[in-house]
Amino acid sequence: MIGSWVGNLIYEGKAKRVYRVNDELLIMEFKDEVTAFDGARRENAPGKGRLAAAQTVFFMRLLSKYGIRNHLVDWDGDRKVLVRSLKMIPIEVIVRNYAYGSFLKRMPLIKPMTKFSRPLVEFHLKSDELHDPLITSDDIIEAGLVNNDQLSEMVDTALKVNTILSNFMMSKGLTLVDFKLEFGIDKLGNVVLADELSGDTMRVLINNKHLDKELFRKGASALELVKAYEEMNRLLGIP
Ligand code: 5GP
Repeated sequence: MIGSWVGNLIYEGKAKRVYRVNDELLIMEFKDEVTAFDGARRENAPGKGRLAAAQTVFFMRLLSKYGIRNHLVDWDGDRKVLVRSLKMIPIEVIVRNYAYGSFLKRMPLIKPMTKFSRPLVEFHLKSDELHDPLITSDDIIEAGLVNNDQLSEMVDTALKVNTILSNFMMSKGLTLVDFKLEFGIDKLGNVVLADELSGDTMRVLINNKHLDKELFRKGASALELVKAYEEMNRLLGIP
């Protein structure tokens, strides 16, 4: 299988390159780089690509065990992950357990790190130009990005993912503050969890210390970030 992992570069983002293998399959290649503030800060981060790929594969496999349909097919054990090709939905679904980040900017009436009475789910339009603005479910339906059933499934799945990941992290002494998911639609119209699940896409604390990209956003070096990802993997038993 690994021998046939060749494809044409079809997309290059800040953290990953995507290659098309055939109609059904893509390769996500995690870069040894870290960026923040829409790419304004960028550093080489040797080892980060493999660590983030390992996290993504580990979490996707964990979610599969609980019946969460996702795009993972295989992993080369390094920076490349083989995934199913989907029609990606240009929405970021964010689940929040504690008040942090952009939530605090728009809702100053709630104190930082307040635990919500129940997880909050919100949608952002994927647009670098507009800085991923918050959008409503009505906006999504009106724009025809997905239908009502698909939107409900995205929310249900996001909440299930939150329960599974929060409980798993809690069992290892970690706190899942918030995270971002992306979904795609397969040929049958099913909503499928896609993209990555790593320290780049979630906030995870141990004894109030970040094990995620927030460290870099707050000024830590790329090397310190790689160390934190190594610690996350060690604590969670990620190979
Ligand atoms: P916030 O909206 O507070 O900045 O982010 C909420 C959560 O979603 C955080 O865990 C953050 O890492 C993740 N997140 C939000 N937007 C993005 C994005 O554009 N890219 C990535 N990788 N993660 C994001």
